Amino acid sequence: MMKVHDSVIHPWNYVVTPFPVADHVYYVGNRWVGSYLLDSGKGLILIDCAMPQTLYLLLDGIRSLGYDPHDIRLLLISHAHYDHAGAAEALRRYTGAQLWLGRDDVPFIGHPELLLADPCNCPDFQVDACYEPGQPICLGRFSIRAEHTPGHTPGAHSFFFEDTANGRTILCGMHGGLGFNTMSDAFLDSVHLPHSLRQDFLQGLERLREYPVQLAIGSHPSVFHMLERWQEHTPGVNPFADDGSTWRAGMEDRIAAFRKQFPDA
Ligand SMILES: [Zn+2]
Repeated sequence: MMKVHDSVIHPWNYVVTPFPVADHVYYVGNRWVGSYLLDSGKGLILIDCAMPQTLYLLLDGIRSLGYDPHDIRLLLISHAHYDHAGAAEALRRYTGAQLWLGRDDVPFIGHPELLLADPCNCPDFQVDACYEPGQPICLGRFSIRAEHTPGHTPGAHSFFFEDTANGRTILCGMHGGLGFNTMSDAFLDSVHLPHSLRQDFLQGLERLREYPVQLAIGSHPSVFHMLERWQEHTPGVNPFADDGSTWRAGMEDRIAAFRKQFPDA
């Protein structure tokens, strides 16, 4: 069974005890989808929120860290797929947070075939703000740069921000959508999206590969083996911060795999 479906039916099998990723960033996602809580000092920021069926895990996780979900001021969605945005409206209404999304993904709302959602359970959500190039999203200690990286969806955005880890300031980066599943001819044709998304995707990867990201964050924990690295880490040492090699190797891997699957892109 696909994990997105299995995690909807058996969410209790996807529990992850939250853990710190950087000094003010916490992993609050589940085993399948990443969510990240940022403590700005002036309210909380949440990046991605997974599905309605796993929302209780997310809320439990946030509370277990000693935070109140009602303090979430900003809800930043990487792209409008059910597994990242499904719980957005429930969370928005519960917390009063401002919901941000890439402009080109707004037309996905209400369309289960675009959201990759079950038509019987197609989430409706209201977007409060869209990312603007050159305009970072600022709250407390964080200034988050959202960069348009279309491909996986037309409006997918990647996030870059500074925090501290192991006693130094580092650049954290999360690519907003690395899956190839939505870029096949069959899928693009079925939902009337342009094949040029494949070139956009590749160009984005090649651009982002050059960024000096010293702390790579996975939109799914599997992307950078977040859960394994946390499990195997030396106590007292942040296992995610490095010299930029994890990020670069991750982007290289995706570029090579993409070129293999889509030689004409
Ligand atoms: Zn997706």
